[in-house]
Amino acid sequence: MKICVIGTGYVGLVAGTCFAESGNTVVCVDVNEEKIAGLREGVIPIYEPGLKEMVIRNSAEGRLTFTTDLAAAVKASLVNFIAVGTPPGEDGSADLKYVLDVARAIGSHMEGFKIIVDKSTVPVGTADQVRRVVQEELTRRGVNYEFDVVSNPEFLKEGAAIDDFMKPDRVVIGVDNVRTAELMKELYSPFMRKTDRMILMDVRSAEMTKYAANAMLATRISFMNQIANLCERMGADVSAVREGIGSDSRIGYDFLYPGAGYGGSCFPKDVKALVRTAEECGYDFMLLKAVEEVNERQKMLIPEKILRHFSGDGAGASRPLAGKTIAVWGLSFKPRTDDMREAPSIVVIERLLAEGASVRAHDPEAVREAQKIFGDRILYSSSSPYDILAGADALAIVTEWNEYRNPDFERIAEQLKTPVIFDGRNLYNPHRLKEMGFVYHGIGRNGSG
Ligand code: NAD
Repeated sequence: MKICVIGTGYVGLVAGTCFAESGNTVVCVDVNEEKIAGLREGVIPIYEPGLKEMVIRNSAEGRLTFTTDLAAAVKASLVNFIAVGTPPGEDGSADLKYVLDVARAIGSHMEGFKIIVDKSTVPVGTADQVRRVVQEELTRRGVNYEFDVVSNPEFLKEGAAIDDFMKPDRVVIGVDNVRTAELMKELYSPFMRKTDRMILMDVRSAEMTKYAANAMLATRISFMNQIANLCERMGADVSAVREGIGSDSRIGYDFLYPGAGYGGSCFPKDVKALVRTAEECGYDFMLLKAVEEVNERQKMLIPEKILRHFSGDGAGASRPLAGKTIAVWGLSFKPRTDDMREAPSIVVIERLLAEGASVRAHDPEAVREAQKIFGDRILYSSSSPYDILAGADALAIVTEWNEYRNPDFERIAEQLKTPVIFDGRNLYNPHRLKEMGFVYHGIGRNGSG
């Protein structure tokens, strides 16, 4: 099939590459000339395991090309995926500017029947807006081509995006037209090798499904963070509680890890957008408002624990972190990505800096992105996590990269000025660390307050 994917970010680049991998002819379009020039040379603008090899292979075999020429790409393709960003507007609603710009461009360049697919996360009713904008363009041009608008939200996870796309839990397709439904099924059939996980529905339900999924996951995280905070106050250990409840098949283990709050380019903005959508139709989504508020507070927990710890060291100063150095492990919003959008590390580090601390941070992939945010206000390392420990007053774990899971604790203790660990992801065994002489602060763990 001839496909064009407009927007070559995390979603568009992965989708386009995986469609090429399954034999389609794919042209990826972006307005960012530098990005497109790089991609033509095999330079991948994001960190996503396995993506680079796949881009290079499919480009070399002629199935995957990159361009800034949207008009030519649309003319050459039957299926046109819109995969541009939908950032939050000032009132929290999804900003559809980029999606509708692309829709307008498709309308002004299409020649013949086109399938237009919303892959970006967009509020219920967006497909209607896309349809209207495309039709306006066709009318303005005085031409009359048929087209269908499909909702096909994306569920991939950054860090595991290729696997998620190639072996999806499910593919949701919102479509009103039988012929287009068949084409979409054909397009996705190579990814349905074992069982058919294709879920066809009406367009509005498909649009809603994406928001409901992310809102549910965010709710589980905020719920578990509050359980953890209560555990801490009651002398219970949230890790044991998590196992105890996760073993119930109605609950399951996933997304029950307490921590430093959720971040990333999706959960915060999608929760906000759904609250806003509800408001627009006169419905108060109280639960989601609380989910958001709990998350905002949770991001402050690590710096508050650090402040509390150093307030009690006898200094009695009004700024207990002045003159202290905190080493931070993990900057990206989660492991296996360089994405810093809405990362809890931003809140943690900004607060530490505001309290007068010096901050040194390690991350295997996100340093380049972090530099855009913190500039030279902090010191960075992307090589060895031990590089930033010498003489630091404490170590805080903010992102659970695998390489932090089993570190050399003796080396950490030797390097730190005082052996204090704030484990924002509950990676370590509190009892073992205490035996080794560490002061250990986890999230919601018995006696580790
Ligand atoms: P991104 O910001 O990484 O990429 C968007 C790309 O679109 C950029 O490269 C930008 O230059 C390009 N763009 C903007 N306007 C354009 C135009 N007019 N023509 C061509 N290109 C244009 O975004 P992303 O993370 O890939 O997310 C895209 C959408 O997918 C969002 O709606 C997001 O909510 C959704 N989504 C993201 C993820 C994720 O994990 N990142 C997962 C599922 C769904």
